[in-house]
This record gives sequence, C-alpha cells and structure tokens, in this order.
Amino acid sequence: MAERVVLVTGGNRGIGRAIAERFVADGFKVAVTARSGEGPAGTLTVRADVTDSAQLDAAFLEVENTLGPVEIVVANAGITKDTLLLRMSEDDFDSVVATNLGGTFRVVKRASKGMLRARWGRVILISSVVGLYGSAGQINYSSSKAALVGFARSLTRELGARGITANVVAPGFIETDMTAELPAETQADYKKSIPAGRFATPDEVAGVVTWLASDDAAYISGAVIPVDGGLGMGH
Ligand code: NDP
Repeated sequence: MAERVVLVTGGNRGIGRAIAERFVADGFKVAVTARSGEGPAGTLTVRADVTDSAQLDAAFLEVENTLGPVEIVVANAGITKDTLLLRMSEDDFDSVVATNLGGTFRVVKRASKGMLRARWGRVILISSVVGLYGSAGQINYSSSKAALVGFARSLTRELGARGITANVVAPGFIETDMTAELPAETQADYKKSIPAGRFATPDEVAGVVTWLASDDAAYISGAVIPVDGGLGMGH
C-alpha cells in the first residue's frame, strides 16, 4: 500500500492538508492541488482550480510524470457561500455547485482513466453532515454535498467490478478556516447540538480517509461514513 500514489485536492490547508499529512506519515507518495500556498512537507504541490478541466489535466500530468498514475483520489476542495434561499443569487448557487460537485466530477473523471488501466483505485469524496441533515442558509452547499452520495453510489455501480471503490466521508464541524468564519454564538449553539459536545480536529477526518484507502476497506463501496460526533445520527 505504502508505494501508492495519492492526490488530494485543496491540500494546502484545513482538512485536505491534514489528509495529505496523514498519507505522507503512512509512507504514500502524495500530491496535493492548491490554488495558493503549498501542501505539507513531503508532498508534491501542483497548481489547479477544480473548476477548470485544463488546469486539472495539466496537474494530473505533472503528478503522473513525477510520482506515477494516481491510484487514490480525495476530492476535498470545497467552498461555502451561505445565505437564505430568497437572498441567494444564481451565482452563489452555481459557483458552490461548480466547485463542490463539478470539481469532484472533473477530478474523479480524470483520475478514473488511470484507475481503470490499473484495475485498482480508491475514490474518496469529502461531503458534509449537512448534505443529508440539511442546513438553513446552505441550500447551495447542502445540495452539492448530498449529490456526492449519488455520485459515489453511481460510480460504485459503474466501476465496482474493476477493483475501484468510491466512498463518501461526511464530516460534521471541524476546526478549520471554514468554521472559524462562523460567529461565536453560532459555534456555541452548534456545540450544544453535537452529542460529542465539541468540534473535531482535521486529523480526526484524515484517519478515516486513510483507512478507506487501505486494504482493510477493500469491500466497502458506496458508503457514507459520518465523522460528526453523532450530530447527523439517523440521516
Ligand atoms: P477550508 O476553507 O479550510 O479549505 C478549503 C480548501 O479547498 C482550500 O484548500 C481551498 O484552496 C480549496 N478550494 C476551494 N475552492 C477551490 C477551487 N475552485 N479549486 C481548487 N481548490 C479549491 O475548508 P475545510 O478544510 O474546512 O474543508 C475541506 C472540505 O471539507 C470541503 O469540501 C468542505 O466542504 C468539507 N467540510 C468541512 C467541514 C468543516 O467543518 N470544516 C465540515 C464538513 C465538510 P485555496 O486555499 O486555494 O482557496
């Protein structure tokens, strides 16, 4: 396993960075895409915006030429543009869907070519608890994250017989720049509704992702794995 090549989108900060760090620590060959900044020590950083297929193709070529074909892809890059439905512009909706869902489509489509050739692959999509739980003010974001469940399950049906698994990780509230933007009272309210009583660290998501990439998870596909301290139970 340790020799396998991993690509994590949005690996310069937050959850993506923690995932890349964990793969490096486990001995994988790790590349990250970043629009700005650099991935953690031991990774190859390639520039790409996930809304741009040409940039992604160039990034994949660089990874393939430097490390080899991508065998494990983690579609992590994502954005929020929160507001209530009546105030949400078409651009607020379209840009979030283009990044979170469209970005996943572009990245996974490109990665699947090499996986099909190798007859082995791991596709791991970073969704969110709000994809299935819902969230006022996040119609765009929660829709884009719920769609990843259909994506992984359809991919499982298309490629499951070729040694490729596709799973969704659904984090709850994780301590990153994305949640730091929430007002203090909102953060306190959320903590009251989380059975664990706290937010998680990015590393608590990373460990689940690396496990899904391992041989121990070879027979798990089309699953939604919550990492949410119990917030989304039953959804
Ligand atoms: P951050 O805001 O800390 O980081 C987002 C990452 O996505 C950055 O690396 C950013 O790159 C990258 N990114 C955004 N847009 C693009 C784009 N168009 N092209 C390429 N890269 C892009 O977010 P988190 O680490 O918190 O979130 C990571 C993932 O986890 C997201 O998909 C998010 O929806 C999901 N998630 C997060 C939760 C949380 O509580 N934090 C909870 C549930 C899910 P750049 O720095 O260049 O902008």
